[in-house]
Amino acid sequence: MVSRLERLLPLLAAAEVEAYLVTDLLDSTYLSGLRASNATLLVGPGRRTLVTDFRYRTQVAEEAPDWEVAEQATGEKLSEALTRVITAAGVRRVGFQSGALTFALWDKLRAGLPAEVELVACEDFVARLRRVKEPGEIALIAQAAEMADATMVHGFETARAGLTEHQLRLEMEHFLLTLGAEKVGFDFIVCGGPNSAKCHAKPGARPLADGDLLTIDLGARLAGYHSDLTRTVAIGHASDEQRAIYDLVHRAEAAGIAALKPGAVGKEIDAIARGIIADGGHAEHFGHGLGHGVGLDIHEDPRLATTSEDVLEAGQVITVEPGVYIEGLGGVRIEDLCLVTEDGCRVLSAAPKPAELMVL
Ligand code: ZN
Ligand code: ZN
Repeated sequence: MVSRLERLLPLLAAAEVEAYLVTDLLDSTYLSGLRASNATLLVGPGRRTLVTDFRYRTQVAEEAPDWEVAEQATGEKLSEALTRVITAAGVRRVGFQSGALTFALWDKLRAGLPAEVELVACEDFVARLRRVKEPGEIALIAQAAEMADATMVHGFETARAGLTEHQLRLEMEHFLLTLGAEKVGFDFIVCGGPNSAKCHAKPGARPLADGDLLTIDLGARLAGYHSDLTRTVAIGHASDEQRAIYDLVHRAEAAGIAALKPGAVGKEIDAIARGIIADGGHAEHFGHGLGHGVGLDIHEDPRLATTSEDVLEAGQVITVEPGVYIEGLGGVRIEDLCLVTEDGCRVLSAAPKPAELMVL
């Protein structure tokens, strides 16, 4: 992981900080390799200190062998351990992640550190590095995407009128775990009928019924890396209006995927897909962004959204997921996971996505 740290150093130099405190756990994992619930880093030129506790002693040796470990003693507060480590480092300007350091911790550090140590609010530089994936990360995400594909197909085979959303969710989550995923990537969204009009509905006790739209949004987690996949189908039969909405979302998604390439800007890609949905008369029924980066976190940078200035680069993994949600009638969302390549993109997900609404 040392090379990741080397990529971070120029960003610290530009921010004129001698050291950088990494309190975001996923950033900490990304840089150090350690997957722990307590892991804070102090990094800088020639410096890579990992603050964790007794519980991770063995794991540190296996996962982060290159790091200098400052163990938080039993009974010692994290603020005390960090104060100790920063003071011993003898650094004056210490950057911190303004979005990932609580005010309570900042307050304790400020009170404990010598007056000449300046705490400098910085953006999350590690999140910027995490946007572009390395081949090993892409391989894990692609494998997690395959598991999601298989689970979606299993869901299509299982879903039927009479089965509740909750039962279908349980069956699918169980199936995914038996494939070897370490965890479900997030709580599966399984929503039928009127619930499908809610983008992030919680699966409930309502049985699926003939004529329902059914939206399934799922993903796997594998060695920390996520996949994300959504399909919408109909149960029993579909109305013309349901088919028309599906067709609109299908076309918007295809246009969004076709627009992915290095140099493209998040808001421009969003506008292409959103324009198709607006032309279909459903602008007000698509109220979320078009897509998001996926990696150690299920939602991370870059973003495809109306205000996103993020510029795509080869090696980024991003979702495209337009939707149309109409209260009463139901909703349609289609989501695929895409890898930005040198000349466009490669779609990593391969679950069936017919041009016409699939009726189970
Ligand atoms: Zn999703
Ligand atoms: Zn998503």
